[in-house]
This record gives sequence, structure tokens and C-alpha cells, in this order.
Amino acid sequence: MQQAINVAKFGGTSVANYDAIKNCASIVINKQNTRVVVVSAAAGVTNELVLLANTALRTEQITEVVEKIRVIEFSILNSLKDPSEVEDKLFSLLEELDTIARHEELNFRDDLKDELMSMGERMSSLLVAAILREMDCPAINFDVRKILRTDSKFTQAAPDIQAIRLLAGQLLRPEIDGAVVVTQGFVGADEQGRTTTLGRGGSDFTAALLAEALGADTCEIWTDVIGVYTTDPRITDKARPLPELSFEEAAEMATFGAKVLHPATMEPALRQNINVFVGSSKEPEKGGTWIKQSCEHEPPFRALTRRREQVLVTVKTPKMMYAQGFLERVFKIIAKNKLSVDLVTTSEIAVSFTLDNPANSISERINKETLTELSTICEVNVEEGLDVVTVVGNNMHSSAGVSSKVFAAISDFNLRMICFGANVHNLSFVVSDKDSADVVRVLHQALFE
Ligand code: ADP
Ligand code: ASP
Ligand code: MG
Repeated sequence: MQQAINVAKFGGTSVANYDAIKNCASIVINKQNTRVVVVSAAAGVTNELVLLANTALRTEQITEVVEKIRVIEFSILNSLKDPSEVEDKLFSLLEELDTIARHEELNFRDDLKDELMSMGERMSSLLVAAILREMDCPAINFDVRKILRTDSKFTQAAPDIQAIRLLAGQLLRPEIDGAVVVTQGFVGADEQGRTTTLGRGGSDFTAALLAEALGADTCEIWTDVIGVYTTDPRITDKARPLPELSFEEAAEMATFGAKVLHPATMEPALRQNINVFVGSSKEPEKGGTWIKQSCEHEPPFRALTRRREQVLVTVKTPKMMYAQGFLERVFKIIAKNKLSVDLVTTSEIAVSFTLDNPANSISERINKETLTELSTICEVNVEEGLDVVTVVGNNMHSSAGVSSKVFAAISDFNLRMICFGANVHNLSFVVSDKDSADVVRVLHQALFE
């Protein structure tokens, strides 16, 4: 019988420095089944790379940012027992980073942005593999671009599942018997071999994709919290870790702002029925959350999420009354501009929808061209400073009293838009970003405390 395979992913804070990486290495070594390790860039590095990619900086400013990154990487390198083993490789990666950072077309070319963005993971995977070897665990650093095939939508590339499965079988599978394979999260390559990235936070997605491609039994997401909580523990200290969650609930939470998981992470897990564990690399003994196909309990209220920096667009035209094809034209424009709509409500002559517009994303999500194009067919109104708060649970459409309990708790707040009914796991509303943390706290108290 084939050995069960576990894919373990370690996030930015887990690989932020030498001691943190040693905790990760112990987790890997303690579980013989862990054959593939997916790592993020060390904490803070991707944000610096985004700054370089998206801002027209002066030469000396570029030098400063590159230096910040160099300091992070070198503090890890210099803690190694034998830095000389990987020193040359790290030097050349930093040189490559420096060259792209100074490329005059960087700010305008998404392919160059992605090449630059990949550097954080390429450096951290080199160092994590070295630390594993230092702890007597045979480990190799593997270039994920050989197998993680994507389309060419730079900064937000979509994986090619079939190609990944085939390539992983040919190139990754043979490596995992002899060594732990340490590879880069978030990074991929298109058919021409050009570097792509999967969008911010994409390393979780990489881990799930590789688990799927290898037919792994489990996928572990090691981060800085001991599991998925009832809500972001940074919003309220009353949040508590959940022992279990279903794929659907976790997918809903990730889509609606629970940053602990990249929104697409659950797709491969669901397709292949791979159990996903979320835990803290600093405190592995505290356990964590198991995400699986079905749970013993399916409570109507499981968790609360908040998705920040939302834009509410309202398009209005009297022509919409009894007219056909208006919505199609609106959504064609949105699709053409590669924006994805989250919540939608309609009335007789208007449609409102929310778009994600996060700072620190590699590409600018809502742009003037989209709005100009929309205004050729209707009146357009854009509201910013909004967040979406979502109640995630089960059978919400058929359980009596669900909405009344939620709305009674937050009757003091102005709800700008409400979406309920399309999905049995989700009740979402748009509120001012000034109120959203309070809304979550008040709701948390009413539903979970
Ligand atoms: P990593 O770098 O390991 O990928 P992230 O910062 O992306 O880590 O995700 C972990 C963070 O997600 C936590 O520190 C926490 O603040 C945030 N978070 C948001 N919602 C939740 C939730 N429901 N449960 C746990 N963590 C959450
Ligand atoms: N390093 C990337 C980011 O910060 C990917 C990840 O951490 O998952 O977005
Ligand atoms: Mg993350």
C-alpha cells in the first residue's frame, strides 16, 4: 500500500526568522508522512515587494527597500550552522531581485511584477530546506514553477489542474521518497515558463493544489493562530478556535474575509476530499481546526467574518424597468475588466454590487476605465469606506429565527445592503468601515458568548 502523504504549508510569520523556522522544521520532522513543505515569503517581504512593484520610487528609495529585504534574509542565513551551503544561491537571488526592482518598466508590466513577487518565496524555501538539513532531515529545495502550471493572468493567475497533476506525477512524485521537498507557495509559471503568482495569500492555495495533485491524504496549514476561530481574534479576544468545520463553511469564511485561508484553498480539498488542518507553528501542541467534508454538528451559527475595503457600486437607469439585457451589459463590462462581484441586490431600476478593492493587492482592482465604460450605459454611483460582515453557518434559510436573532443584535447600526438566501451558509451585510469591528463584536456576543 502507498504511504499516506501530508503536505504542510508554513505562512509568513512561521518562517519570519531562524527560531520560527526551527519550530516548523520540528513539526515536519515529527510527522514522517510530511513529504512536501510549502512556504510563504518571510513576514513583511511580500509587502515590500508589492511596494517596489506598484510605486514609482527614486533610486535611493529602491535601495532602501531592497536593503530591508536583505536584512530579513541575511539574519536567517547568518543563524545557520553552515551559511556557506546556501550563501551563493541567496546572493544571486538577491541580485536578481535588485535588478528587477530597478527595471524601468516594472510599474507597468505585470509579468515583471510577478517575477519580482516570486523572490520572497524563492529565498525562504532555500533557507527552510537548509534548516531542515541542518536538523538531519534530508531536504531539497524544489522550484515549483516546474509543476505549478497556470494561465498567463499575471498577479492573479489561475491554476491548470490537469497539467499540475501530470507534472507533479512526473517531477515531484519521484523526489518525495528520498527527501522532504521544500517548495514555494503563491508562485507558478505559464505555458511559456513565465513566472506568475496566484494573488495575495496564495500559498495556502498552492498547498491544497499540490496535495490534490499528489493524491495526499491531508494538508496542514501552519500559521500564527491555533486554528480557525469563531471570528478574527484580532477583532475580539472572545473569539475561540473551532475544533471542526465543513469544507463549505470554511470556503464561505475564506471567501468572505477570514484571512487565515486563501479564498480558493477549499476548492482542491473539496474535489479530492482532503482533510485540511489549521494550527499554530509556534504552539503545535495546542491542536487546531480540522476541516472536512461533513461535521458531527452543523449549528446555524458557526462563525463571523469581515471583509475590508469593499466598494459598493450602484448602477441605475429607468430603462431597466421591464427591459431585457441591461444586467448582461453591466456584468460584461465588469467581467471584461477582470473584476469579480461578491454581493448583488437589485430593485426595479437599480442594481448594487460590491467589489473587492484591497490595498496591497498586486494589481489595482477597480479602475477608472470600468467606471467610465459603465457610465456610458447608466448612472453610476460609487461608495467607498465599506466592509462586508458575514454570518457563516448551516441551513440558515430553513432555520426559524436566524435573521431575527442577527438583526435584533445589530439594530443600532446602519446596514447599507443585505444579502441572504442565495446560499444556506451565508448571511452578509455591508456596513461602514467605522462600525464593522463593533458590529462583529456585538454579533459575536449575541451568537457565541
Ligand atoms: P499566514 O502568514 O500564516 O498565511 P495570515 O496572516 O495570512 O497567516 O492568516 C492568519 C491570520 O488570519 C491570523 O493572525 C488572524 O488575525 C487572521 N484571521 C482572520 N479571521 C480569522 C479566523 N476566523 N480565525 C483565525 N484567524 C483569522
Ligand atoms: N507571500 C505571499 C503574500 O504575502 C503569499 C502568502 O503568504 O501566502 O501574499
Ligand atoms: Mg495567509
